[in-house]
Amino acid sequence: MIFKQVFDYKSSTYTYLIASSKGREALIIDPVLDNVESYIKLLNELDLKLVKVIDTHIHADHVTGAAKLKNLTKCSTIMGEYTPAEAVEIKVKDDELINLDNLEIRALYTPGHTSDSFSFLMNNHLFSGDTLLINGTGRTDFQNGNAKDSYNSIFNKLLKLPEETLLYPAHDYKGEKVSTIGKEKKQNPRLQVNSVDEYIDIMNNLNLKKPAEIESNIYKNINLGA
Ligand code: FE
Repeated sequence: MIFKQVFDYKSSTYTYLIASSKGREALIIDPVLDNVESYIKLLNELDLKLVKVIDTHIHADHVTGAAKLKNLTKCSTIMGEYTPAEAVEIKVKDDELINLDNLEIRALYTPGHTSDSFSFLMNNHLFSGDTLLINGTGRTDFQNGNAKDSYNSIFNKLLKLPEETLLYPAHDYKGEKVSTIGKEKKQNPRLQVNSVDEYIDIMNNLNLKKPAEIESNIYKNINLGA
């Protein structure tokens, strides 16, 4: 399997490129508009044909490269079924499978960070978007975010996956690249709570600054960055 993790320094976003092997079909998760040229270069180097691009949710902190990649490669655009982005061609449901050659990627509805957030599981690789981060969890204070939904998505869905499942989030601000479900269960400070109310209390008192350009990013992302 080909697996590349690409970092965007401006927004601290991780983008993932997956393919079964050289010369085959490829899928990109959470592309950043500014980096589309570098993804095309990578695809060409590996002789891959981009067939699918996924956004885990409508991002607030960067503009997606989905529409540009579609224009350049004719790939299909995929998001979860609750996306407000009408231009998305394939809207997947919870537990639906996405095929890529002989690989299968399972869509998991994990609302909380936003109401449209999905995670994606391929074998033991979990692409958690901003639902579960390394040593953190996605903020729940805009885009219909909801701390109780975040708790349920994390505790009743993602943490039920095998402990050795590799966690690949959409962001990291401290240079961490990968974790596991087992490690997060033990070490993630947000997950060391005794009740849903304790988690909600933490999430409702984070007092984070709004991301720069949030309104224009969301507006552009609803059009897939076109
Ligand atoms: Fe986000």
